[in-house]
Amino acid sequence: MLASLRRNPVNMFEKLLIANRGEIAVRVIRAAREMGIPTVAVYSDCDRLGLHVRMADEAYRLGPSPSTESYLNLERIIEIAQSSHADAIHPGYGFLSENPEFPRRCLAAGICFVGPGASAMQRMGGKVEARKTALEAKVPIVPGTEVPLQDEEQALRIAHQIGFPVLIKAAAGGGGKGMRYVETPGQLSSAFRDAQSEANAAFGDSEVYLEKYLNSPRHIEFQILADRYGNMVHLGERECSIQRRHQKVVEECPSPMMTDELRRRMGDAAVKVASACGYENAGTVEFLVDSENDFYFLEMNTRLQVEHPITEMVTGIDLVKEQLKLAWGEKLSFGQQDVQWQGSAMECRIYAEDPQNDFFPSPGRILRLNSPSGPGVRDDSGIYEGWNVPIYYDPLLSKLIVWGKDRNETMGRMKRALSEYQISGIKTNLPFFKWILAQEAFIAGRLSTDFIERHYSPGDSKKDPPVLQDMAVMAAALHASFQGPSNARGTKEDESPWKLRGRMNGMRNR
Ligand code: ADP
Repeated sequence: MLASLRRNPVNMFEKLLIANRGEIAVRVIRAAREMGIPTVAVYSDCDRLGLHVRMADEAYRLGPSPSTESYLNLERIIEIAQSSHADAIHPGYGFLSENPEFPRRCLAAGICFVGPGASAMQRMGGKVEARKTALEAKVPIVPGTEVPLQDEEQALRIAHQIGFPVLIKAAAGGGGKGMRYVETPGQLSSAFRDAQSEANAAFGDSEVYLEKYLNSPRHIEFQILADRYGNMVHLGERECSIQRRHQKVVEECPSPMMTDELRRRMGDAAVKVASACGYENAGTVEFLVDSENDFYFLEMNTRLQVEHPITEMVTGIDLVKEQLKLAWGEKLSFGQQDVQWQGSAMECRIYAEDPQNDFFPSPGRILRLNSPSGPGVRDDSGIYEGWNVPIYYDPLLSKLIVWGKDRNETMGRMKRALSEYQISGIKTNLPFFKWILAQEAFIAGRLSTDFIERHYSPGDSKKDPPVLQDMAVMAAALHASFQGPSNARGTKEDESPWKLRGRMNGMRNR
């Protein structure tokens, strides 16, 4: 039966294992299926009925729900790939995707890792090392240290040299962890210690370094694709300036501030950085851009980005298929001059979290789900009605992506799609996006990484009156009870403490 799914049995992988979960695992399965490659899903106990498990051709248990015992268990993943005869592994994003041990172990086991080689990953994985690589490639970096800081005294001396405010950042950083803003010399000592201990707890590595804090910059990143024969292209930018606590929430392409000339210069810089570490496959070079349109290398992500679909929408290039072809050893089938950008795309990251309660995670059962559709709408989702969003992982439910012929049409479509999106049983950040899209500064394209900090207060995302929200949940609960028992139905044990806490807070708020 599997063989009958194959359309291209000669020149492609026999079988692809996806070492991930949720929407990104589903995304990769879709690309593989379109290419005729059978897929293997892996899952933890709480994901046994996950969408990715339902969609893959085969699925195998990794272990208990905590990620350390499942999606981070490298040995077990390799074991499953071998026993299921998968000849390639796609890591998705997060989990093990940026761990150089992963491509190393795959190589040793004779399995193709869909991503860069271990040495490029290692070189760009540490932020201090990545900054050095960018400097060597003559690409400007944010002013700061090029070696890890030894102690507070050294940090203070350097901070005085580059001028306050500064940021202390974890060398192994990611997800904004181990990052501290320091406005005055008096704050440096405690910020230094906090950053070190947070970095140690998150990454098992307490190394920190220092960067000049740029005032209200834009976050603009470039997608690159490279084959193993030295050919590399960039696919343009993604503007990711709308962030909450240094985490992207809305991304768009093209950036409203971009010019052809700046795109060419930034794209060249991205290719230079990636070439300097001998990069292969898909990657992203991130920059901060100041009010003078000067840009500075921030870091490189050596994997598929969460926000990759907006690039797909404007270039028409399927990044996951390209990743698979490049990993198989194909040459890039197009050059820089062939890359064209058409229209405008935007993505909202839909999370199970409560914007009314400081974005507290809100896992639990999805009682009712209406996903948006219609012209220009793409919903990259990892959920379904009846699914129990687990407490164990990042509570990303789906990515709502829209395309329009220009930014105006895109914003109108996004608003329309958000109004169609209905998820009940859990809290989501949908009202937050409705608020963002109504902001004058956002509509005018005046974006910066501190946009939310400057404009948002919790009451702003209070859209529907609470009574209506409650009625919707009650109606959904009644609907679910009329559906009779479902195999996705959980027991009392999987009532999450997060959800209970969320409910209690909800009651307090009323
Ligand atoms: P992480 O890898 O932890 O996500 P990054 O270095 O990618 O950290 O930075 C994440 C975000 O933090 C950036 O998009 C930006 O909003 C903010 N940031 C990082 N460095 C600076 C800086 N030097 N000045 C101002 N903002 C910064």
